[in-house]
Parts: sequence; C-alpha cells; structure tokens
Amino acid sequence: MAIRQLPEEIAARIAAGEVVERPASVIKELVENSLDAGATRVEVETRGGGQTLLRVRDNGTGILSAEVPVAFRRHATSKLATADDLFHIATLGFRGEALASIAAVSRLTCTTRSAEETAGTRLRIEGGTVISHSAIGRPPGTEMLVEDLFYNVPARRKYLSSERTERRHIDAFLTRYAIAYPGVAFQVTHNGREALHTSGNGSAREVLLDVYGLELGGSLLDIPPELTAGQAIQVRGFVGPTTVHRANRGYITLFINGRWVQDLRITYAIIQAYHTLLPVKRFPVAVVMVDLPPEDVDVNVHPAKTEVRFREADSVFRAVQRAVRATVISEAPIAADWRPPTATQPIPSLSATGVTAPTTRASLAGLQPARQFALPGTATPAASPSTATTSSAPADPSGAAKLPPLRVVGQVATMFIVAEGPEGLYLIDQHAAHERVLYEQLLSVWAEGRVPAQPLLEPVTVTLPPDEAARLEERLPLLASLGLEVELFGAGSFLVRALPAPLGQVSPQELLADIAAADLDRSPVREGLEALTVRRICKRAAVKAGQVLSREEMENLVHALEQTSNPRTCPHGRPTVLQIPVAQLAAQFERR
Ligand code: ADP
Ligand code: MG
Repeated sequence: MAIRQLPEEIAARIAAGEVVERPASVIKELVENSLDAGATRVEVETRGGGQTLLRVRDNGTGILSAEVPVAFRRHATSKLATADDLFHIATLGFRGEALASIAAVSRLTCTTRSAEETAGTRLRIEGGTVISHSAIGRPPGTEMLVEDLFYNVPARRKYLSSERTERRHIDAFLTRYAIAYPGVAFQVTHNGREALHTSGNGSAREVLLDVYGLELGGSLLDIPPELTAGQAIQVRGFVGPTTVHRANRGYITLFINGRWVQDLRITYAIIQAYHTLLPVKRFPVAVVMVDLPPEDVDVNVHPAKTEVRFREADSVFRAVQRAVRATVISEAPIAADWRPPTATQPIPSLSATGVTAPTTRASLAGLQPARQFALPGTATPAASPSTATTSSAPADPSGAAKLPPLRVVGQVATMFIVAEGPEGLYLIDQHAAHERVLYEQLLSVWAEGRVPAQPLLEPVTVTLPPDEAARLEERLPLLASLGLEVELFGAGSFLVRALPAPLGQVSPQELLADIAAADLDRSPVREGLEALTVRRICKRAAVKAGQVLSREEMENLVHALEQTSNPRTCPHGRPTVLQIPVAQLAAQFERR
C-alpha cells in the first residue's frame, strides 16, 4: 500500500481514542472542565451507562459565545499560552483535546453562557461536524449533553462493558472527585435514580461518610496537616486504621495537585507505610492528596492525564510514606491501664545481668510490656515514641486490634496457646506472638539509644560464604547498636562477643547467617536495613513451634502480647491470634 496522509476525519477519530475510551472518560474530561471553570455545583446525569446519554451541567464561568466553536477545535485551550506553561500547570485540563475528541465520536450539544454576556449559545455537533449554532437564553454556566457515544465507531462500542460496569467506572471517578473537592456540590443520577449527592459545604469528612458509609467513612484517620506543614511536598487526606483492610488496592486513591492519578510507586508508598501492621495480602483504605510545586511534576505524560512523572520521585515517595506511617502509628490503640516506662526506669528483663546467656525461658519469664514504637528512620515528630504515646487516646473503645486481658488455659500441639477472654476462645501462635513481642521491645529500647548487650561466656566464631560475609561486615555498626557485638576475625570469619539482651538464648551462628542472608535488593518490600535486620533477629530468637511452655511462660507471653501496639499480627504480617466467639461455639454445639 502506498503511504498516504490520513484524511482529517480519520486522524481525529484515532486521536479521540486516546482520550475517550469509555463513558467514564467523557465524564472525567467534562467534570474536569467544570472544575477548571470554577464551578461550585456539578450535576451529572447518565442513561444506559452513559452510552445513550450523559450530561454534565455546571455553574462555572461559561464560555463566551464567540469562543464556543473554537473550544471544539483540536488543541484549542484557554489554559496554556506558551510552551513554558506546560511546566507549571495549575489546571486539570491543558491539552485542548477533550471537547474535540468527544465531539468526534458522539452527538454533542453544548449550551453555555458566560456571566459577562446577556445571551448564551447553543452548539450542536455530530461526529465532529457542526449541525447548528444559535443564541439562547440560560443562566451562566455550561451544560454538555453527549448522546449516542461511539455511534460512528462501532469497533469501540463492542469493547464497552455492561451498563452496570460502565456505571461503576463513572461512580468510582465521581466519588473520588467528590472527596477531593468537598467545596463542590456533586449530584449524580443514573437512569433518573440518584447515586451521589454531596452538599459542597467543604467538609471532606461528610463526603467520606456519604461515600463510604458511617462505619468505614467514620473510621478513617485524618493525616494531620502539621506533619508536612511548610514543606515543599504536602500530604493531606485520610487513611484507614490498622483494623480496616481490603483484599485489593482498589481502595487506595491518590490525588496529585488536585488531579486523580494512578501511580504504582506512590500507591506502594502507602501500602509500605502499613508494613507489618496489616495481615499479609491485605491492603489499606486511603485517600491521599499530595500537593507540590507544579514545576516538580509533569502531567503531560499521556492524553488521558491519569499518570504523572515526578522530578524527585523518591522525595514524594518518602513524604507520603512517612506521613501515612506517622498517622497510622500514632493512632494505633494502646492499653488504657498501661503507661510507658520513663527513660530512666530500668526495664526488668534488660537489667538482669548475668555472665551466662539467659535461656529462652528466661527471656519469656522476663517479658515486659512493649512500648509504642516508631520505626527509626521513619520517625517524625508526631510519631516519636514519647509523643506518640502521649497523643494517642488512652484506650480505643472500638480498638478491635487490641487484645483484651486473657486467661491462659493451656498449650496445644506445642505450637498454640489456648486462652479464654471476654469474647470467647483465643488461639495464639506462640512463635508469631513472641516475634511480635520481641520486635516491639527491641525497637522501643533501640529508639531510645542502644540495645543493651548480653556478653557471651565464650565468644563464638562464625564463618560465612564470601558474599554473605561482605554483607555482614557492612552491617557491623548497625548490629552493635542492636546489642549484637560482632568482630571481623579473618576472611569470612566473625567473632560474636555479645547478643542483644532482650533476646534470650539464640544460636549466634544461625542469627548471623540470617542477618547476612537478608538481601536488601531482593527484599520484596522496600524497607530500611534496620527494620529488616530487627525482624530477622526476632524471627530467629522467638520460641519455636515444638517447644513446650510452662504455664508461667505462656502467661508472660500472652500478657506481653496484650501490651503490644499491634498484637494481632507478627512483624511479617501473619496473624498471631485466632478468636472464636462464644456465640460461634454455641452455634456449633447447636445450643440456642
Ligand atoms: P482543555 O480543558 O485541555 O483546555 P478542552 O477541550 O477540555 O481542553 O476544553 C477546551 C476549552 O473549552 C477550555 O480550555 C475552556 O476554555 C473551555 N471549556 C470547556 N468546558 C468548559 C466549561 N464547563 N466551562 C467553561 N469553559 C469550558
Ligand atoms: Mg479539558
């Protein structure tokens, strides 16, 4: 086939395909135009999932009658003047493509009136061709009516999903914008039935309650604006407490400078902020809004404008991760009857000095309440151990994450502790529970400085393969701060002189091998070396399945678990406790 220039009309349809994929993308473009026009009321109406009809009506600035036909030309926009403007975009639109694209693949009627003029305009376009153009009377603002979407693109029509699915896409978009723009009153109807109605009174919390319902909407925590106040990257919004989680990422919403975007990395920063706080394979609920200087973010990545590029992606990642983490940690419920020990107060199990390494039993016997902790490196003023504890509510009455006081009944299969509590039967995984306890203890002592070291009677020599030895060598200063005193002894050989005091008996060989094997690059989660190392240490030091525990040891362990800030999961996110309500037992025994 010879090379030919495509006719204008075909080129327009190809271009339209990039912007208008489905009814929801039309709604997105039209609503973004309304918001750019300063509207405080946006009404959306659809029929047939938006394919038969969709209408967006606003009370924004309107379009001057002379400019109406221009607005529908490709690359016609009032939002950009120079190429430089592209690098500090403050509006949602800027490409001047949306109206032209939508008009190319539908029958579109635009009625609008600028507040500066007395008469309005009505323009009708079918498949990109102007059918009529007249003056009409109407109040200031704009209404875009789009009928028979894709009537002239049958191939695209075939790809549309069911009416219900299309409606879901539309609602997903509109509810998010309603949350991010609480000052705008949104009203949405599908086939005449109201789907969403917000007051526009500026309260995002009110919209959350509306959109997510009382229970979920009410449980979300405010990201305190103080966390990032005065910084170039500001993080606002709402995040779920650790008790709220979902099976997928669909409940994570991200706005960058008022624009809903999809960004895998920043989404990951949010997920990462919950690391070890949620069960594995569960995802948080979050609406996170990041504001940063427009010149630091490039929104001109794709015609649909749902992706952005950051000039300094790492800084954004860290700002989001820290703000979310601090919010979640500071709200993690703590026990009412428990007060943090003061810095000078000796911690029982740590003050025990002895030349022989304590046994695991000794470490269980000496377990003490763990303190609220912040991961070193992610600590922000609001999340530092001292302020976090004092700023938290003493007890969260709805704190489903917290454990009530439990009475130990016994051990099953040398693996699980059986206990009784106010809400029935509790089964506790002894290894996972001990890991959680050690983890919080180690971090909390560490947050105050160094972890005390427990000297070994005889130093122990450990030899590692070269790559692991090299890795371990780099980590020696970190290990020393964790109470693990190790010296390089010769090629690949190390001398272990002391172990972290809170740990109890643990094999130095296995411990070092574990730490050296922790390969940061291959770690599935992006976390600091510190946290990774601490988790490794705790995993190795925790009591194993198969160990018989005395009643006292079990009681100490359960009591220590009750005091942790996240008793329900181990540091790796696996559950520590299974709870069977009395009602369920009764039902199983067919008691009424
Ligand atoms: P863009 O939003 O990228 O500028 P569009 O094709 O979406 O491009 O819109 C073209 C122009 O039409 C806009 O720049 C704006 O001036 C005008 N416009 C579109 N919708 C509205 C509206 N609802 N209210 C006021 N002006 C509008
Ligand atoms: Mg636009």
